[in-house]
Amino acid sequence: MVLNSFVIIFRTIFCIGLFLISSISWSRVWTTKQGTKSEGELFEVLGDRIGLLIKGREYHFSLSRFIQSDQDYVKRWKMTPRCPACSKALGTRTIEAGGFKYHTSCFSCMVCRSGFKGGDQFRRDAWNGMVHIKHYQFTGLCGTCSRLFVKKNANPKQFFADGRMSCLSCLKDGVFEKNILSEVEKRVWETLTQIGLSKPKGKLSIRLVDRNLLNKEALKINARGNLRGLTLTKYKIVQGGRNSGTTFDHQIYVLYGLPYIECESVLAHEFAHVWLNERFIDSTPPVVEGFCNLVSSEVLEKEKSKLASILLDNLQNNTSLAYGVGYRKMKANLAQKSWPQVLMEMKSKSKPPKIK
Ligand SMILES: [Zn+2]
Ligand SMILES: [Zn+2]
Ligand SMILES: [Zn+2]
Ligand SMILES: [Zn+2]
Repeated sequence: MVLNSFVIIFRTIFCIGLFLISSISWSRVWTTKQGTKSEGELFEVLGDRIGLLIKGREYHFSLSRFIQSDQDYVKRWKMTPRCPACSKALGTRTIEAGGFKYHTSCFSCMVCRSGFKGGDQFRRDAWNGMVHIKHYQFTGLCGTCSRLFVKKNANPKQFFADGRMSCLSCLKDGVFEKNILSEVEKRVWETLTQIGLSKPKGKLSIRLVDRNLLNKEALKINARGNLRGLTLTKYKIVQGGRNSGTTFDHQIYVLYGLPYIECESVLAHEFAHVWLNERFIDSTPPVVEGFCNLVSSEVLEKEKSKLASILLDNLQNNTSLAYGVGYRKMKANLAQKSWPQVLMEMKSKSKPPKIK
């Protein structure tokens, strides 16, 4: 009896200890070489990029932009073995799986919440969410960032009427309204004009649409697949008379509800199509789509959120001949040259229609 109560007391003390440890804030002030300060918690180090959690959002920065003492902090942080699920230092109760060491308490299924045991098959997403294969059907997968979430705990708004799904964090940044779309558009043009892409001379309208309408419109130009945006350009050439010249009418369709970072990348891609179309630049799909993705990547490079890094990685790892291989070829070309040169090369492919 005496021994038993001793055990209970010991456990109580242990719990208090745990509580104190978890209540310590890991947040610290980060200072850039330019002197800008922000408070955030380091959660991952990926080569020369670091992930900081700032006001509940995950950002990626290149380490070299921070002062030496911050860089030293990252060096020390990296040396401590950490649990990939919570990024806190590992203690004595750990479990090893798939080359990673987790806290025993973190290594669990997001659906049934029980810890994985030897022989259990599970799936893991890029955000350290883990689920038993047998419970996978109870999770949703974000169409943007591939984050897993538990369906029954989700907000009904995470399920779009056209069948798409979004994680809570992408939904929070979703572009559903015309005025937000205009802000995104402005931000995209800032980057595009910097690299030398001028705004269109013709009429341009942008519509937020659902997947069904987008796919229906896409069939007009025989486009298929997992589309997020689409550009249809009509032109009219008038010869002779007072109205002589060429006029353009561009219609861009973008899926509604994409988080603004993804919406930016889609708009940049479509604006690149508009730029090509107004110059009658036509070439093979790897050249055209590769160029448009290169323009899109320029916009993503400017963004610091973790989502922008993931979308850039998706471009880098895309296996499609047009969107992936074509993009990497364009990127290699740009690395040797400059934007004005790349734009000149594209312009040399211009073939305006001949009128008899
Ligand atoms: Zn952990
Ligand atoms: Zn489970
Ligand atoms: Zn997401
Ligand atoms: Zn395209």
